[in-house]
Amino acid sequence: MTVGTVESPDVIVVGAGAAGLVAAATAASEGATVVLLERGPVAGGTAIHSIGEFWIPNNRHLQACGIADPRAECLRFMAQLSYPDAFQPEHPSLGLADAQYELLTTFYDEAARAVEHLEAIGAMRSRFSPAAYGDALGHPEYHAERADNLVPQGRHLIVDDGDPAFGPRGEAYVHQLVTYLEKHSVDIRVGHRVVEVFSGSDGHVEGVVVEAEEGLMSLRARRAVVFATGGFGHDPAACATYLPAPIDAVAAVSTNTGDFLRIGMSLGAALGNMTNAYLGNAAFELGIGAPRIPQLTHFPFGDSMIWVDCTGNRVVNEKAVFTERAQAHFWWDAERSRHSRRVLIQVFDRTVREHPAARYPMPGADVGDAHVLSAPTWRELAEAVDARLAELVPRTGGIRLEPNFAANLERSVARFDEDARSGVDRDFGRGATAIQTCYEPRLHEGTPNVTMAPFATDGPYYAMIIGAAMFDTAGGPVINSRAEVIDVLGQPIPGLYGAGCCVASPGGRAYWSGGAPIGLALTFGYIAGRNAARG
Ligand SMILES: Cc1cc2nc3c(=O)[nH]c(=O)nc-3n(C[C@H](O)[C@H](O)[C@H](O)COP(=O)(O)OP(=O)(O)OC[C@H]3O[C@@H](n4cnc5c(N)ncnc54)[C@H](O)[C@@H]3O)c2cc1C
Repeated sequence: MTVGTVESPDVIVVGAGAAGLVAAATAASEGATVVLLERGPVAGGTAIHSIGEFWIPNNRHLQACGIADPRAECLRFMAQLSYPDAFQPEHPSLGLADAQYELLTTFYDEAARAVEHLEAIGAMRSRFSPAAYGDALGHPEYHAERADNLVPQGRHLIVDDGDPAFGPRGEAYVHQLVTYLEKHSVDIRVGHRVVEVFSGSDGHVEGVVVEAEEGLMSLRARRAVVFATGGFGHDPAACATYLPAPIDAVAAVSTNTGDFLRIGMSLGAALGNMTNAYLGNAAFELGIGAPRIPQLTHFPFGDSMIWVDCTGNRVVNEKAVFTERAQAHFWWDAERSRHSRRVLIQVFDRTVREHPAARYPMPGADVGDAHVLSAPTWRELAEAVDARLAELVPRTGGIRLEPNFAANLERSVARFDEDARSGVDRDFGRGATAIQTCYEPRLHEGTPNVTMAPFATDGPYYAMIIGAAMFDTAGGPVINSRAEVIDVLGQPIPGLYGAGCCVASPGGRAYWSGGAPIGLALTFGYIAGRNAARG
């Protein structure tokens, strides 16, 4: 890692993750001198731990295959998922506020351009993600079956590091960008936490105050400062204030404590999208108290497996897309006046428990098995779960199993067994879309729906307590289509740009498909870096 001597660079970028690395590379490619300040011990942020997939509409790989991703249709698809309560298909801005619509159009127009720019300057190589599932276009879209989605495959990209086998590419994403930055003399300073910004009398942001081992120092930027400091997932007070319900596990790096939320507010920034986060699930006990969880429950493993609430009833399609499924935890129980689905109980049988392909958070050498309970019968399993919930009372707000849990669980299992035999989940449509089936190895021969199989008639049976989790939050200071941060009066704060999870997501509440967070971070990181460099 280079430690240069530039004291007043043109551009200061804060945060060396998915958005900051791109912002720094883009600013450098525009001829600006750049200092990249990173609070953690290494560059990479959450991005380095990620799969590294980015969702890019109308990308050059699609074009090369002759697959059209027309603007109007793609915008309608995105707008519907981003702002479902406002969406009007025939309205000139699709029912969205002008600023929201402009950010979506900017994303559509600039995303492919951003990747092509990074490739043109030699900062990144891309390809479809991943070339698995027997299809070169990669895995299906999360919403492949929707009539308003004209491109069911091929918007997911990943960095191409020459290895065609499927595997996480977050490290490669970071490595390619850092290599470019080092080659172009960008001064990357790890262990440098920005705690404040300072502005001139005209309100133009002129530099930052940094906390480092040497103490506090200030660093002036000749043109602009770009924030890319991740979300506020690790600020429990902010999470309690803004998020709709408790989210008990966070996969973002622990340095993402929402610094830009406070810094932005101190400058009068408008806040937006504060109730949204990039969601998933975790085994509750692996999440609570952990500095971060290594990954979320993407699609929970197993066919003889269901999730029930504290009454013993199924409440959600267990194989639904993670960010949609996790919102089942936010349901308000009007009878009990609390979020009684804050925890759900995953139950499964021995075939699932012992299968060699079982994946996180199923027990394994890397996660242990203390979070998995087992018992010979459903009734005894219910007792074991309730005893564990009793231990967790201080962390759950007091959730315990209802008295009729065991009887309801047995009924839920019996109904699921019937549906598994017919292949049709009458309650939640499990296994009805391509994304729900594409990760599922066949555990039982002859079942009509690969995601469902009747439970074994004899125990042992197993249970795991499940909670909501997030990659990171998706709200913060609002940006415009130039990635400038906007104040409460709707004016850009001069010299201040933002991208990634530290700002209000230009995608609203949507997770259009795999790679949406990095696709947005990359695109608006590119826009921020370009405009910051141009001053
Ligand atoms: C296991 C896993 C898999 C994932 N897979 C995908 C995927 O395939 N596709 C996808 O789109 N998303 C994925 N994500 C989510 C994705 O990694 C994040 O959404 C993305 O990295 C956010 O980018 P960012 O630049 O906003 O934040 P980050 O990448 O987290 O970077 C923020 C950086 O800012 C630094 N920072 C914070 N405060 C300060 C400060 N005050 N001063 C200086 N530096 C500071 C942090 O230390 C951090 O390095 C995944 C996440 C995980 C954990």
